[in-house]
Amino acid sequence: MRLAERVRSLPPYLFAELDRKVAAKRAAGADVISLGIGDPDLPTPRHVVEALQEAAEDPTTHQYPSYYGLPAFRLAIADFYERRFGVALDPDTEVQPLIGSKEGLAHLCLAFIDPGDEALVPDPGYPVYATGIQLAGGRAISMRLQASNGFVPRFADVAPSERTKVLWLNYPGNPTAATTDVAFFEEAVAFAKRHDLLLCHDAAYSEITFDGYVAPSVLEASGARDVAIEFGSLSKTYNMTGWRVGFAVGNAEAIRALATVKTNLDSGIFNAVQRAAIAALNGPQDHVEMVRAVYQKRRDLVVAALGDIGVPVETPLGSIYVWVPTPGGKTSAEFATELLDEAAVVVAPGTGYGPNGEGFVRFSLTAPDERIEEAMCRIRERMK
Ligand code: PMP
Repeated sequence: MRLAERVRSLPPYLFAELDRKVAAKRAAGADVISLGIGDPDLPTPRHVVEALQEAAEDPTTHQYPSYYGLPAFRLAIADFYERRFGVALDPDTEVQPLIGSKEGLAHLCLAFIDPGDEALVPDPGYPVYATGIQLAGGRAISMRLQASNGFVPRFADVAPSERTKVLWLNYPGNPTAATTDVAFFEEAVAFAKRHDLLLCHDAAYSEITFDGYVAPSVLEASGARDVAIEFGSLSKTYNMTGWRVGFAVGNAEAIRALATVKTNLDSGIFNAVQRAAIAALNGPQDHVEMVRAVYQKRRDLVVAALGDIGVPVETPLGSIYVWVPTPGGKTSAEFATELLDEAAVVVAPGTGYGPNGEGFVRFSLTAPDERIEEAMCRIRERMK
């Protein structure tokens, strides 16, 4: 068998070694608490589940869905943008439903990256940007994100080449939990225009914010629609990671290009899931308030306990993560291993998100309250 080079050259799964250690610890009887993966533990809202049940009973949902998504779903996404960001979108040309935002992030690369092309990616950042570029035959160019600059790139230090076509950004960010403002997006839009780049903003965590902070859309920046698209997700907002539903919005030409790739590779989202997604976006939003409150409380627990063991952490204003500098000059892997060995707590080593993640680990807030309390209790007691 002769695998394609694009698959053989994919980076090894960086969490494999950690997984092996976790399995060994569990086999030895340890009660391991995983704060590694970011997958909400809370259920999808009742009215969304009921909308799916009802839609699944309707045989018209059993056929192939429309390639471009149900018109009512596209309208619900446009209405959400108007309500939430004051951004008016044409549901026919500026909105594309996705089988989860990850699907769109990866397929976007096929629409814009030819072999030898380049794209700028945040480092540390969500790994799909770089692997999507690589699978398209392109080269991911790291933009170093540093604590000293609030984990936003310094565009003055970024030098795109003739082959650079795409710029990826993600706020609230995974793994850094960094947040930003419209002024930064204005800067990013100007930079993208100057270098003829498509600006792709991943807003998967736009609704998970704390302490009154409200995350902006890149499309709030003036002129953004000329160069930008934004990816959204129902996964974290409505605890729907398993349902696989998200969307891309913004520049009509980019949306059309993404849809062209998708119509050739997939056949859309189960119509019953789309109807449930409409219920999520148009229905009561008190659930989202509850979700924010839950993560905010968990965030406070984690930040306080780390403070107690002498690891000062900036309190994040968004996402479902806390990005933690390793104490005493330890590497990411060393600190993650120590947390596992001393406290039986799993965290993600920062190097899983790019070389510049070295010196950090990521705590996920998606375990039940009592498990996070127990994890932080152990860390306090055993690592002080
Ligand atoms: N973007 C970011 C930054 C993420 O962290 C994730 C999931 N962890 C996604 C996109 C993908 O989300 P989904 O495909 O479930 O919409």
